[in-house]
Amino acid sequence: MSKQFKAAIVEEFGPTLTVRETDLPEPGPFQALVKNVASGICHTDVHAACGDWPVKPEPAFIPGHEGVGEVVKLGPGEHDVKVGDMVGNAWLWSACGVCEHCLSGHETRCEKAEYGGYTVDGSFGEYMLVDTRYCPRIPEGVDYQEIAPILCAGVTVYKGLKVTNTKPGQFVVISGIGGLGHIAVQYAVAMGMRVIAVDIADDKLELAKKHGAEYTINAKEKDPAEAVVEYTNGGSHGVLVTAVHSDAFGQAINMTRRGATIVFNGLPPGEFPVSIFNIVLKELTIRGSLVGTRKDMAEALDFYARGLVKPTWKQVGLDDVNDVFTGLIDGTIDGRRVIKY
Ligand code: NAD
Ligand code: ZN
Ligand code: ZN
Repeated sequence: MSKQFKAAIVEEFGPTLTVRETDLPEPGPFQALVKNVASGICHTDVHAACGDWPVKPEPAFIPGHEGVGEVVKLGPGEHDVKVGDMVGNAWLWSACGVCEHCLSGHETRCEKAEYGGYTVDGSFGEYMLVDTRYCPRIPEGVDYQEIAPILCAGVTVYKGLKVTNTKPGQFVVISGIGGLGHIAVQYAVAMGMRVIAVDIADDKLELAKKHGAEYTINAKEKDPAEAVVEYTNGGSHGVLVTAVHSDAFGQAINMTRRGATIVFNGLPPGEFPVSIFNIVLKELTIRGSLVGTRKDMAEALDFYARGLVKPTWKQVGLDDVNDVFTGLIDGTIDGRRVIKY
């Protein structure tokens, strides 16, 4: 019988995973087998398990794309990492390397990309496979659990903030202060932006304040667009939406000053109404942003290694995954939960 390992598996779509033994995979060409020490739990894992999006993964699969572990075996061929190195998996698990997007430094747009914990098995297990050409390298001397949320939440908001084109001293709104948003506040502060935080829960807004937001708005208590326009004397220069409710997306467009850029990171299923007139008159830029390239990842990890960002997180076990999913759906998780193996 082949060797087995313990993993949390989506057997059929829904928020309940099955924790059981499964066969240990063999690393193929350009692949490494990694023994995990930690994995963050992202709201994307909930969307994946529930089959929320138009392009669905195929059960049975193992979610998880904030994994950190040690390389224990290399597949055939030459590799840029060696046994004993600490690496991560990521949402952008691999890309083709030769299409117009890959060649122009936009590998997140690759149509042949593989996604960790979605099209390939992820880090909700004691072992995982990575592609050694694409896997993040974990800097030396860091806390392996604390760095895990940087591998998705961190890189995603770091890249998202960059493409808001907000300059130091200008206003940026972070809408949604969950796993992504509480780290976004910190990157934005480190980049010299003036941060306004929006959420629907006061404890999330407290967390945003702790991490450096100068003004916070509970969108359940007042109209966040009006409040931002008033506080900023005309509207924010940039907005980053990480919220998991579609209401936040229309509001984001209405809280901007002329010429602003609104970046969408959050991926709730659904649509939202928007005024064409406002977009044209205010010359707004609205763009989506998907995780980051390998270069964005190295930069985002470096911010962490230099002490500029520090995720708020709590340790859980693999058996706690379903409880964490319930908390993410209910909006009661502060920061991130990180599995320790
Ligand atoms: P999370 O559950 O930790 O945080 C979501 C936050 O949104 C919570 O704090 C919640 O209170 C808040 N929220 C809910 N409704 C709101 C509203 N109407 N206005 C303002 N805030 C509201 O989730 P997360 O792990 O931070 O992920 C957030 C979203 O980002 C998910 O949809 C996830 O799939 C997506 N995501 C996208 C990328 C990407 O590359 N674009 C990467 C990672 C995650
Ligand atoms: Zn994620
Ligand atoms: Zn490609």
